[in-house]
Formats: sequence, structure tokens, C-alpha cells
Amino acid sequence: MAEEKCLFCGIATGKVPAKKVYEDAKTIAFLDINPRNPGHTLVVPKKHYETLLDMPDKEAVNLFASVKKLAGQVMTAMKADGISIGQSNGVAAGQLVQHVHFHVIPRFMNEGPIGLEGILQVKKMDDKMLDQVANAIKKGKMPASKQLTPEKIVRESAMEDEDFDLDI
Ligand SMILES: [Zn+2]
Repeated sequence: MAEEKCLFCGIATGKVPAKKVYEDAKTIAFLDINPRNPGHTLVVPKKHYETLLDMPDKEAVNLFASVKKLAGQVMTAMKADGISIGQSNGVAAGQLVQHVHFHVIPRFMNEGPIGLEGILQVKKMDDKMLDQVANAIKKGKMPASKQLTPEKIVRESAMEDEDFDLDI
């Protein structure tokens, strides 16, 4: 997305109104207009980067220092029992605005202790599969013949399951 049409660039330059809660030379933070909880804050770099992977290390480190700072401020201000920090890259991950951003979300015991990992179903993987994945991550590449998509993992696990009912 071009920077001129980017919503978060607009907020960073003041052209688009937002409920700003923090600003320094490189970072700006403001309330999410669709809060998951009261105090849900977005922390973004003023400079346009599409994803975290596009950011130079130094800029990413600087941004995360601001995320930590905001996490503390939001937790104190909202008298929260916990804080979730979320960050998604790419459409598949659910990134809606193509300008890197961190979600800082206050959490409360009365909503139940549900982690961000509660969003996705647990995938059943055997030790061999886990070794393949670990090796692929270390090397930065999975061999083409060993591609493991979530659907493939679920299917292979079901076929290996002795209790698998063929009538299903
Ligand atoms: Zn932008």
C-alpha cells in the first residue's frame, strides 16, 4: 500500500484523527477503534514499513521498547490483571492495515485466562514432523517434498491415529 493512502501514516502525520496516547520521535501509539478490551492500544512506527520483516533491526528494537513502555502504562491505567501483545504480518496472519503495528491489549481475570494461542486449534504433530520443522527453520527452508501445511498435518495425524474411524 502506498504511504499516501496508508491509514497509519495518516495518523502519524496528524492528517487522520486518532486517540493518541503516546508519541516520541519514532513511534506513535493510539487507541484501536475496534477495541478487544477498554484500553486496547496500537503501537506503530512513524515511518512506513509494511511488516516487521521490512524493518531494520535497530528500528524494530526501538519500536519494541515503546511497546513495552505502553504495555506498562496500559496495564496501570486500566488496572488490568494481564497484558496481551499481538503482532501479525501478512494477510494470512490477519494483518488488516499494511503498516506494521503491535496490539497492546489489557486482560482481565473475569474474562477467563485465555491466551492468544487459544485462537488457533492445536495441530497434532509427531516427533518426526517436529524434527523436520525444526531443521527447516534452522536452515531457513523446508524441502519441497516435505511441505507441511496445516491441512496436511491434520490429515496425516488422522491417518496415523489407530482410533481413526474410516466411516467418518
Ligand atoms: Zn504507513
